[in-house]
Amino acid sequence: MLTDKEAKRIFKEKASREPDKYYATSVLRQEGFIREKCIHCKKFFWTTKPKKECDDPACSGGFRFIGNTPVKESMSYIETWKKFSSLFKKIGYTPIKRYPVVARWRPDVYWVGASIYDFQPYVVSGEVKPPANPLVVPQICLRFNDVDNVGITGAHYTGFVMVGQHAFQPPEKYDQDQYFRDIHSWLKKGLGIKNNEITFHEDAWAGGGNFGPCMEFFSRGLELGNQVYMLFEQTPSSYRELNIKVLDMGMGLERNAWFSNGTSTSYETVFPTVVKKLCNITGVKTDSDLMKRFLPYASYLNVDEAEDIDKAWLYVASKIKADVKELKQKIIPLSALYSIAEHSRSLLFALSDGALPSNIGGGYNLRVILRRALSFIDKYEWDISLSEVCNGHASYLRPLFPELSENLDAIAKIIDVERQKYNSTKQKSRQMIGKLIKEKISKDRLLQLYDSHGIDPNMIREEALKLGKSVEIPKNFYAEVSELHSREKKEAFEEREKLDLNGLNETKALYYDDYKKHSFKAGVLKIIKNNVVLDQTIFYPSSGGQDHDTGSINNQDVVDVFKQGNIIVHVLDNKPRFKEKDGVEGAIDLDKRLQLTQHHTATHIINAAARKILGPHINQAGAKKTTEKAHLDVTHYQSITNEELERIEKLANKIVNDKIPVYLSFMPRNDAEKKYGMNIYQGGAVPGKSIRIVEIKNIDVQACGGTHLKNTSDVEKIKILRAVKIQDGVVRIEFVAGGRAKEEIDKTKGTLDKLSRILNVDEAQIPARVEELFTKWKKARKAIKKAKQISKKELELKSTQRFGGDILAKTAEILKTQPEHLVKTVKRFMDELESFRKKVN
Ligand SMILES: [Zn+2]
Ligand SMILES: [Zn+2]
Repeated sequence: MLTDKEAKRIFKEKASREPDKYYATSVLRQEGFIREKCIHCKKFFWTTKPKKECDDPACSGGFRFIGNTPVKESMSYIETWKKFSSLFKKIGYTPIKRYPVVARWRPDVYWVGASIYDFQPYVVSGEVKPPANPLVVPQICLRFNDVDNVGITGAHYTGFVMVGQHAFQPPEKYDQDQYFRDIHSWLKKGLGIKNNEITFHEDAWAGGGNFGPCMEFFSRGLELGNQVYMLFEQTPSSYRELNIKVLDMGMGLERNAWFSNGTSTSYETVFPTVVKKLCNITGVKTDSDLMKRFLPYASYLNVDEAEDIDKAWLYVASKIKADVKELKQKIIPLSALYSIAEHSRSLLFALSDGALPSNIGGGYNLRVILRRALSFIDKYEWDISLSEVCNGHASYLRPLFPELSENLDAIAKIIDVERQKYNSTKQKSRQMIGKLIKEKISKDRLLQLYDSHGIDPNMIREEALKLGKSVEIPKNFYAEVSELHSREKKEAFEEREKLDLNGLNETKALYYDDYKKHSFKAGVLKIIKNNVVLDQTIFYPSSGGQDHDTGSINNQDVVDVFKQGNIIVHVLDNKPRFKEKDGVEGAIDLDKRLQLTQHHTATHIINAAARKILGPHINQAGAKKTTEKAHLDVTHYQSITNEELERIEKLANKIVNDKIPVYLSFMPRNDAEKKYGMNIYQGGAVPGKSIRIVEIKNIDVQACGGTHLKNTSDVEKIKILRAVKIQDGVVRIEFVAGGRAKEEIDKTKGTLDKLSRILNVDEAQIPARVEELFTKWKKARKAIKKAKQISKKELELKSTQRFGGDILAKTAEILKTQPEHLVKTVKRFMDELESFRKKVN
């Protein structure tokens, strides 16, 4: 198969030879457009008057709308969407709400990077119906490949709203001419620009094995949007028409609003209140005359395109007849200020949708922009609070995205913790830098220093400068850094070796309705070595973090069960004594199933309880349920304290004792998403057009295929064992439920009994007594080692202070050990202290 790039190139040539077949040329001709070919980039384009150059800024001489927009009535950022959506509503489109920017429904990416992501993979593949058809959506997208251009070019963003115009239709209903007319009506009636101000560029698009033509639209050097027609899919030998053809028009809301205002940078149009406030705080002024001259050339400073960024500055300065030093002095602080505003807005969306900065995957991107913003604040010693900037964005965006105002306190807390982490990294790195700059620092070394120690390259450069050394920072440093972890989600997606199961139907799963059903009859469809596929089964395969069932088929032990696609495979301990097409009987180990089921339902309960106690940023990052114990990994920006853990446990047990019904049902994906929102994908992306919903009424709703109880009271009891930070931004909560919880509670009781006997105190007095024991043991050991005088009396234990929380956890914390080692450890200290006492007089 061709790569997307090759497919695009080949198809583009084909479409150029037959434009009438692939573009809405009849509409264009009706509107008075003629076809031309650009003498620079050789692209075909459509214009109302003969010209030799297309409207790409590189071919046509940069932006020509600044201070000079052809739009008669300018619109604010918010108004631009309102006007767009009301116009499209009138012509038959349904405006829908944005999706979260965290792409929980997709296994391959962290962030939504385009409006079409909302509908991939199931709507685009035709498996699931779209939420409306045709539709328009203001979708916030995050992209981190332009981080270094943000602020400086006046046009780049890490977070932007892509206005999507989408239709999903079988070939006979797909009406490309109409879609084109619709977007053209936005340019004419919405923005109110004349045809002689519009240029359409013919192009082609390819992605994920699909491809088709597309039409970009420009005005005065600015690309306003791109209408993509996904028509074909590649096959191993050639290509074929898609069953569902997709209209994918994407248009930056930022660009359209900017264009209608013609301000010098888009930031002034997109977040006017925030820019104004930041200018007031910092005293940075916009020199509007200089900006007016500078901005048309700002795109020359695009780090992706400029060969030598210093040369580019010189070129721009000469073009606008300014002194390069003065130009930099005025522009660079301003671009820092714009970056702070821009990055805060992206953070606001991401944090509000439940993401957290960290050092892995998508969280890493957030940390990069957060630290980039903080480093500007530090560099200029500005008195800017990022959380206040977020508040400013939330209030400006309220008419469009009211949900952004809901979690501002939690967001402020996250940013505060991040700021502390940043400060402590900075201190640590100062100490390192002294040593570092003695060596030659390569680009890879800079990347590695940022990646593993969080050292910002600008700090290295500044320190080096003091020693008269120069360090060169790669011009797109932050984009390269962001790239380092962006593939992790994809790679974590492992698969086991595939069996040849061609031609087999989906296995009918019998475990969804009743977790107590334990025996069944089935037909054997396929045997490969010890692997057995049945037409139906009650065996739960390992999935969603829940261990598989064990049991037997025709009295032969089943040791493993897994899923390959929609087919469930049973692994026997020996070669099956039955054959394909036989009828067999199977049974699972019901005790094990019950324990796993209790652990699974408890996992949902803990997730809900943790969110209630710790905040709305709590999301599942992973989970595992075995018969012995379970754990839930949650996203959290710091460690969970013992006190918080106790509150979570208490609330979880309240949910158990409240006897809340657990509803299990299959629902069309769309209905479920509409009813419950995208947070249902706590366990990650779930395939299929119908998804299983597990709902604990008013407590928790998730898309989950696991076995579940009918009522929370069947969990019987939940006991949290511990919480450990397993990586930056992720805390693991280990717990047990049901029979295992009772065992643990008995064990705890036993441990407490033993400790209180060894220490000769009440249970509540154990922590203080252990602390005293530890201190006096250290004192005695030191005295003996150094042959110092110490009296027996000094080593007597007498503390009686009482403790109100989790006694075992507290005691374990004092001794820095696990609760299960406490009895042994305390006994050893007591024995040793006793022998020390014998040694002193
Ligand atoms: Zn051109
Ligand atoms: Zn689940």
